[in-house]
Amino acid sequence: MNEPALYVVATPIGNLGDMVPRAVETLQTVALIAAEDTRHSAKLLEHFHIKTPLVAYHDHSDSHRTAQLIARLQAGESVALISDAGTPLVSDPGYQLVAAARAAGVRVVPVPGACAVIAALSASGLASDRFSFEGFLPAKQVARSKRLAELAGDTQTLIFYEAPHRILATLEDLVAAFGPERQVVVARELTKTFETFLSGSACEVRDRVAGDSNQQRGEIVLLVAGAPKVQTVALDERAQQVMTLLAAELPPKKASALAEQITGVKKKQLYQWYVETRP
Ligand code: SAM
Repeated sequence: MNEPALYVVATPIGNLGDMVPRAVETLQTVALIAAEDTRHSAKLLEHFHIKTPLVAYHDHSDSHRTAQLIARLQAGESVALISDAGTPLVSDPGYQLVAAARAAGVRVVPVPGACAVIAALSASGLASDRFSFEGFLPAKQVARSKRLAELAGDTQTLIFYEAPHRILATLEDLVAAFGPERQVVVARELTKTFETFLSGSACEVRDRVAGDSNQQRGEIVLLVAGAPKVQTVALDERAQQVMTLLAAELPPKKASALAEQITGVKKKQLYQWYVETRP
């Protein structure tokens, strides 16, 4: 039996084989399942022989619905939150309910599983040490180009969700904002029969999507390599060596203060160099 809590349960993003056993068990044993779309989720529940009652929940649900769910949780019942696909709250409803549960002192337990952004990143071949999930870009062209221009200098891998009927227009805007050479991956229909990864320069990927209408169908994650790191601080070789050795053993602020004493180079400059060049 589950401990009373709000369980945030991930469901598959296409392939039912990705439903984790703990998700099935949780959905079977809670008192109630709050779902983005009850009709959509009813099919998933039927497949896994889950008979738990469903109630509709989305972030536009009135505060009365949130209060009702919190009251049931506070009375010691368990509630599960699911969305149509993947992990709730990731470009999906649930934030209001989780925030309210935490504010009310209710235990909130994640039951992790599929998530399109992570699935796409893990197989994209792009740097995964630092990434920024940007959700959906604005649908209107002017706002979308403005947002892309703001992101063009970001050195992290950027990840977007995109609608199939907008992918080509977005790739056009991306070429304009990031330049034709930036590496791009279009990850489509993940975990499903027609899963594809298209990768190459922004210009190449745009042309391939333009030339193949199949690439403008289904569900899409768009990934963009980060901008190359620009080094603004130059250090002589000895200062670089001292800073590198010290920073391997000490926090960077302490390392730069000590390196200043050894090399005579200002600690601010040493610190800045370290931040810009660290892997
Ligand atoms: N909560 C979900 C998750 O964890 O990935 C995302 C929900 S969001 C409303 C739906 C968007 O996620 C789609 O428009 C698409 O961009 C992306 N997505 C969901 N499933 C996908 C799949 N199987 N392949 C590629 N992208 C997918």
